[in-house]
Amino acid sequence: MTGPLQAGERVLLIDAKRRRHLVTLVEGGAFHSHAGVLAHEQLIGHDEGRTVRTTMNQRFIVVRPTLSEYVLEMPRGAQVIYPKDLGPILILADVFPGARVLESGVGSGALTTALLRAVGSTGHVTGYEIRDDFANRAQRNVEAYLGPDQPLRVEVRDVYEGIEERDLDRILLDLPEPWLVVEHAAASLRPGGILLSYLPTIGQVAKLREALEESPFGMAESLEVLQRSWHVEGQSVRPDHRMVAHTGFLTHARLLVPEAP
Ligand code: SAH
Repeated sequence: MTGPLQAGERVLLIDAKRRRHLVTLVEGGAFHSHAGVLAHEQLIGHDEGRTVRTTMNQRFIVVRPTLSEYVLEMPRGAQVIYPKDLGPILILADVFPGARVLESGVGSGALTTALLRAVGSTGHVTGYEIRDDFANRAQRNVEAYLGPDQPLRVEVRDVYEGIEERDLDRILLDLPEPWLVVEHAAASLRPGGILLSYLPTIGQVAKLREALEESPFGMAESLEVLQRSWHVEGQSVRPDHRMVAHTGFLTHARLLVPEAP
């Protein structure tokens, strides 16, 4: 979205202590906090990026959330994939405009949102999610950020039991036992297609790599992404004391065509 802020949109309000609040703009609405009241009318019809003041003269910056900010603030059922991993996932799985993608599980829809943006209006994402409450929550989260009528279909089903789609370009997995999906993925991807799996523990990675080893998949790689933020204030320029030291490992592989005997 560009242009002046409109009713129905979500905005991020950031206070002097850099605390963030995700707020949906409503005609006649108000945002109440310890810092006083902010009428939505002060925001609707105006540009993002402005600083506005509450009834208690406290400052808030108002911006439209980036995808990364939205993912961190949106309502969660399941744990989401963090922005530090979402970016590399899109590149490692080479998700392109027009791609036909299958994702499982869908969880809170963080990766789904990133995928939909990357495949664009000519692509398509199918999500398999075993829990219907998560499937619904994810669809609401996706639409709240990207708007309605996305090229997305979420099905409540167990991906371990098989994948119906054929000729897929990409398959992305964020679930505990991806080795149970390797055979289904080999049948559902087109030759050269990419499988990517996000896993929290290295034992799971080893087990997945073994399954990939015995499959038509090749060119497998596993890695983790470390992101260290820095404190920059005058002469005090150093790494922050705290960092998110671990989220998950990424494993990706390509579906190869077996050599003719
Ligand atoms: N990547 C998501 C989070 C996924 S959490 C995000 O970024 O928001 C893992 C999800 O996988 C959970 O919602 C869980 O219900 C689902 N799941 C676990 N096993 C599954 C299976 N066999 N088939 C489909 N979904 C499954």
